[in-house]
Amino acid sequence: NFISAVVAPGEIGVKFDDIGALEEVKKALNELVILPMRRPELFSRGNLLRPCKGILLFGPPGTGKTLLAKALATEAGANFISITGSTLTSKWFGDAEKLTKALFSFASKLAPVIIFVDEVDSLLGARGGALEHEATRRMRNEFMAAWDGLRSKDSQRILILGATNRPFDLDDAVIRRLPRRIYVDLPDAQNRAKILRILLGRETLEPGFQFDKLALLTEGYSGSDLQNLCIAAAYRPVQELLEQERKECKNDTTTILRSLNLDDFVQSK
Ligand code: ATP
Repeated sequence: NFISAVVAPGEIGVKFDDIGALEEVKKALNELVILPMRRPELFSRGNLLRPCKGILLFGPPGTGKTLLAKALATEAGANFISITGSTLTSKWFGDAEKLTKALFSFASKLAPVIIFVDEVDSLLGARGGALEHEATRRMRNEFMAAWDGLRSKDSQRILILGATNRPFDLDDAVIRRLPRRIYVDLPDAQNRAKILRILLGRETLEPGFQFDKLALLTEGYSGSDLQNLCIAAAYRPVQELLEQERKECKNDTTTILRSLNLDDFVQSK
């Protein structure tokens, strides 16, 4: 249970098409991960084209890094294992070796697999000198040793995908093991409109609703902020309806009594 999720590709429920904008990121992930996992034979010839062992997604909070990781597993037809850096380092003091061995041997059995390490800076952050907790240091070393120890056959089918909002906290040794680093940026107005179209795709909207206008009003919003805004807006009619019902009930207290099944409250003697 140090693993937050293990999901088979057909069950993840997120595809690239569910992610608004981020076209360049999707294109890079297609070349680096999807193609090698789907067509390994194309990458087994020669020396130049080699599947990538580690990728780092970095960028501001809520820009869709976790969403991308899940969709990537769907698109690559890979199993998905998700772990969170801070959970690993806080809960499991002393068990670093067992834990990482279990994780990597489990992953080998599930290959092709993407191991998503959210908050990778917590697990594999820069060495914290004397103040660093011994357990954190051991966990990081064990993790990197197990990662290096992947047999070359496995390394083509196991990808470590790290995500962080704090790339500058990462250790050089970790940066080297994540040779591809992809910046996941906040969306501009055009991309906010694309994200809004996806988030509101199944909602009933006012005729003539202007996505572009809302996109211009939401400067600085991440995809996650846009989602929260849409959820808050969707609650408005629900709140209005509840308020309306409350007012009607005030005028007619018998409604409340009627709506409760009074027979249920009659105690048998
Ligand atoms: P953090 O760095 O805080 O962990 P994150 O970059 O991993 O955040 P997500 O958790 O992937 O961000 O995004 C949160 C939610 O915001 C998603 O579940 C999704 O609903 C919405 N979202 C973010 N970006 C997009 C996008 N480009 N298209 C559609 N939805 C998005």
